[in-house]
Amino acid sequence: METILVLTHTENDGSLAKPAREALHAAATLHQSLAGSKLVAGFVGEKVQAAADSTAAGPVAKYFGVTGADFNQPRYATDAAAAEAICKAAQATVVVAPATSRWARVLPGVAQRLGGRADTHVTGVAAADGKISVNRWYYRQRMEGVLTRTQRPWILGIDPGSQTPCACGAGTAAVEMVTVNLTDVSQRTTVMGIRAPKADAQTIRPDAQLLFVTGAGWTKKQADGQTHLPEAEKLILDFLKKSRASLGSSKSLVDQSGEGQAVLPFLSHLNQVGQTGATPRHAKGLSTCCHGEEPHTVGWRFIGERRAISLDPNCGWARGKADVLYVADAFKVMAKVNELLSV
Ligand SMILES: Cc1cc2nc3c(=O)[nH]c(=O)nc-3n(C[C@H](O)[C@H](O)[C@H](O)COP(=O)(O)OP(=O)(O)OC[C@H]3O[C@@H](n4cnc5c(N)ncnc54)[C@H](O)[C@@H]3O)c2cc1C
Repeated sequence: METILVLTHTENDGSLAKPAREALHAAATLHQSLAGSKLVAGFVGEKVQAAADSTAAGPVAKYFGVTGADFNQPRYATDAAAAEAICKAAQATVVVAPATSRWARVLPGVAQRLGGRADTHVTGVAAADGKISVNRWYYRQRMEGVLTRTQRPWILGIDPGSQTPCACGAGTAAVEMVTVNLTDVSQRTTVMGIRAPKADAQTIRPDAQLLFVTGAGWTKKQADGQTHLPEAEKLILDFLKKSRASLGSSKSLVDQSGEGQAVLPFLSHLNQVGQTGATPRHAKGLSTCCHGEEPHTVGWRFIGERRAISLDPNCGWARGKADVLYVADAFKVMAKVNELLSV
């Protein structure tokens, strides 16, 4: 009989973030399709009661918690110790966890300590005839694999954005506290603070409906023989402000800053989409001034509807990589779009 443990950390305010609810959804679906299985949850954070209560009307049979000020900050030593203790207390055979940046670096180490195995970037979990299988993508999302394992515990890091968040209702949960004996060594790292861009300067928005991608064309000489960087910057930022879209970029454009050329200052390598960049998940994507080369478009694997604006009718997007290609000047199109969005 499998004991499925949803293992997650709480946020600083004690709540559960969307990736945690997605992991809970994946675990609950697995539990439903696996006869005789047990579904339990383990939460790590300064306080976990509110998080447990917020899902108490769902299918979780039992809650475990590791709490205290030491578990508020993302720190490998204390997070790994807490996760290990919960897995042991719950006697978990399958651990379903959100692959947040905090958890992703801890889970493989926890599997090693428990003599189990960890799989990362999991995008689906299912069971048939009592056998569990997981999906993940390989070779920068070009190939999909389905795999099974006999080794237990089996720790699964669920890719955020790949599942529907669990809509488990609230109630009152009885949380069994698990004690973790920390050594001085495990407490020597301290998070001094978080440096993040101001909310309005944050252009990467994983929850946005639309991914707006800029290519190197925005910085190229235009029909008048001149570049139009200030105009490009204004058009892009205006659109982002009005649409609340997430901002992506081609490698060529973000690389230009490294090469000392004139660039759009709000872009960094974190915006890069593609083979050597990110694989975002948005309902729609609009590519502008970008050629649609293969290493770029592999990053669009999970974008629902793809559109592109390029002056070149023979560009990569035209060869079946975009659902709709507008052969047009992106400066003019985006100026019109911004005008319409202002109405
Ligand atoms: C190993 C490897 C890994 C790579 N990984 C990545 C990756 O992860 N992500 C990535 O993006 N790239 C990656 N690349 C690079 C990739 O192959 C392309 O070179 C790059 O994406 C092209 O960028 P671009 O389309 O912005 O620029 P360009 O190829 O310079 O294209 C600019 C486009 O803008 C259009 N344009 C110009 N002016 C206008 C206008 N006014 N209106 C409309 N269109 C206009 C032009 O017609 C042209 O199509 C990788 C390459 C290699 C070799």
